[in-house]
Amino acid sequence: MTSARTSAAPLHGLLAVGAVLASACSTPDAGVLEKIYAEPAEHREVRILGPGETLGGILEENLDRGEQQAVLLAFQERASPRRLKVDSEVVLRFVGEGTLRGVDVVLNPDETVRITRGPYAWSSTVVETPTRIDTLLVSGSIEQSLWASLVENDDLLDMPYNDKGILVDELDKVFQWQLDFSRQIQPGDEFRVAFERQVRPDGSMRGGHVVAAEFVNVGKAYRAIWFDPNGDGEGSYYDEDGNSVRRSFLLKPLTFRRISSRYNPGRRHPILNTIRAHRGVDYAADAGTPIMATADGVVQHRGALGGLGNAVVIAHANGFTTRYGHMSRFAAGVRVGSRVSQGDVVGYVGMTGLATGPHLHYEMIRNGRHVDPLAVDLPNGDPVPGEVMDRWTAELTPRMALLELVPSPSADRIADVDENDPPADPGERMADESGVPPSEAPQR
Ligand SMILES: [Zn+2]
Repeated sequence: MTSARTSAAPLHGLLAVGAVLASACSTPDAGVLEKIYAEPAEHREVRILGPGETLGGILEENLDRGEQQAVLLAFQERASPRRLKVDSEVVLRFVGEGTLRGVDVVLNPDETVRITRGPYAWSSTVVETPTRIDTLLVSGSIEQSLWASLVENDDLLDMPYNDKGILVDELDKVFQWQLDFSRQIQPGDEFRVAFERQVRPDGSMRGGHVVAAEFVNVGKAYRAIWFDPNGDGEGSYYDEDGNSVRRSFLLKPLTFRRISSRYNPGRRHPILNTIRAHRGVDYAADAGTPIMATADGVVQHRGALGGLGNAVVIAHANGFTTRYGHMSRFAAGVRVGSRVSQGDVVGYVGMTGLATGPHLHYEMIRNGRHVDPLAVDLPNGDPVPGEVMDRWTAELTPRMALLELVPSPSADRIADVDENDPPADPGERMADESGVPPSEAPQR
């Protein structure tokens, strides 16, 4: 190691102290002291790259030209100095009378390039931020929104704000086939979640996934338990009976967190100022928000489509078609005839066509007739495969037990409610701004 030479002086110092102590004792006892390879005391100076500042600029203050170059070269073996962003952290490590011994450049929360002065040259390594794994148990009830109930949740007081956003996204991913968090959630709904995460020393998380979760929406409980049938890390979610929570269609083409809450159910068409049948669902979201295909299919139309402005139409199996309107632009590679998979980005939210603000107009058509995307009954994904049923049963028990550990926000939560309950506020969904009948062949 390069530290052997620089630590030589203090090491002698320690041995000298030992020698004095030994001679003061009546019985000198050689071998009492083991060698101590202590790092020399170092002092650290933390610098944050300001706008226009460079790593080279910071080094200039502390090194001569030749050494600056050597440090930059050592850094370049790991990362490009030009790709360092504003607010990047650079830690200068000094020893003795201000001799620069090393430089740490934080590339991202998980990687730091450590550049160290050696006897003959500067060398660099990438140091990965260590993490530990824990399981977070969270419960709450909805007053306004899922987002609000997580941000203000007592179980998550220490969790950084950004990480709460990741938790919301993960929950949305788990329930995206069953529940539209942006529309169906009601005050009084409750949830419990066991969330396994990798945590950095500063308390922020590198990543995580929901192990088990329960969401009670208007008295109906939805449960999802993580299971990895192939053991390849690509797990999926099942209910406690081993049925997949996946459906052939996502309930919505946007991730929940990007959907704004500005939606106004009082439905008079903002431009035409008339009440028209609304044959789709509108999602107000920031311009540029990615729009996902809700199911596998083939692109049937990509371009202007009446009041829908820039629109993509996708044909799916079993006579289903979906339409996505008012896009600002289309995703690269999306052309008439191209295949898309569920969750693929097909375009971005905009306000082309008849729209007063950025939003997505989403329609679902089945055999030539508009259907309500939130109400239509869709086939499930594959259940837990028979050949791994034993493993599923063995893993289900502790995961359900984790969930049971989470204190319920209220005592009597679970109720068996008819599966065919109408979804909340169906009236607000079916007005129309597109004016493009389902039978009309999309114009090229
Ligand atoms: Zn609409």
